[in-house]
Amino acid sequence: MTKEEKAKNVTIDEKANLAMEEGESKGKCEMPNLPKPLTLEEKKFLLAVERGDCNTTRKMLQKAHRHSDYMNMNCVDPLGRGALHMAISNENLEMVEMLVVMGVETRDALLHAIDSEFVEAVEVLLEHEEVIHKDGEPYSWEKADRNTSAFTPEITPLILAAHRDNYEILKILLDRGAMLPMPHDIRCGCPDCIKTSSEDSLRHSRSRINAYRALASPSLIALSSTDPILTAFELSWELKNLANPSTSSGRSTRNSAASVWDSPRSC
Ligand SMILES: [Zn+2]
Repeated sequence: MTKEEKAKNVTIDEKANLAMEEGESKGKCEMPNLPKPLTLEEKKFLLAVERGDCNTTRKMLQKAHRHSDYMNMNCVDPLGRGALHMAISNENLEMVEMLVVMGVETRDALLHAIDSEFVEAVEVLLEHEEVIHKDGEPYSWEKADRNTSAFTPEITPLILAAHRDNYEILKILLDRGAMLPMPHDIRCGCPDCIKTSSEDSLRHSRSRINAYRALASPSLIALSSTDPILTAFELSWELKNLANPSTSSGRSTRNSAASVWDSPRSC
């Protein structure tokens, strides 16, 4: 490497460092909060949860409450799964209840419970959310770290339950006042639509597709409409009009339209 080339490389490196520092100072170069390596106690704790050992888990949590440096009860394994996530995956309701009562953060546990269609855990987590939620503040699942969460921000409990087409969970959520997702018109020029489509058009389109997929849920139509058959046909026509054969979003929309055609039979 000649002197000139070395000098050029140094300049490029310096520029890159400067750009990184500038980005960091502006908050643009944020690194995701990756899971920290587990301590021995945290490994034992997650293993006890995974095995469904309620006694050991309870004792470890009690010790963690007495000694703050004993272990982090909200720790996650290298796959990003916390204690509640594991208990939900194992459909262990006793463990879920104990972890919630003992103060383990729920984060996006409700979404995991809906995803696994674990109805009893959904009820426990919703009751807990009613107790801890304060007006004007985001819900637990909205506070989950988006860099490591398995769910994108537009996925709400109702949308996820509608994607799973789980009648029981949808009824629980609607009874508690969950709102139906109503996507704006495709040509909508409201400040929200302009902002989200200019910031990230892919995310904007994806959130519209997710909302329409939810609206096409036969169980959601049956629970929320006074005339489910008419609603299914109206939605189907709307989706057909929105479908554009040349785009992947068009294909997704056509699939939703096809599922709505089936819904009058299941309603
Ligand atoms: Zn709009």
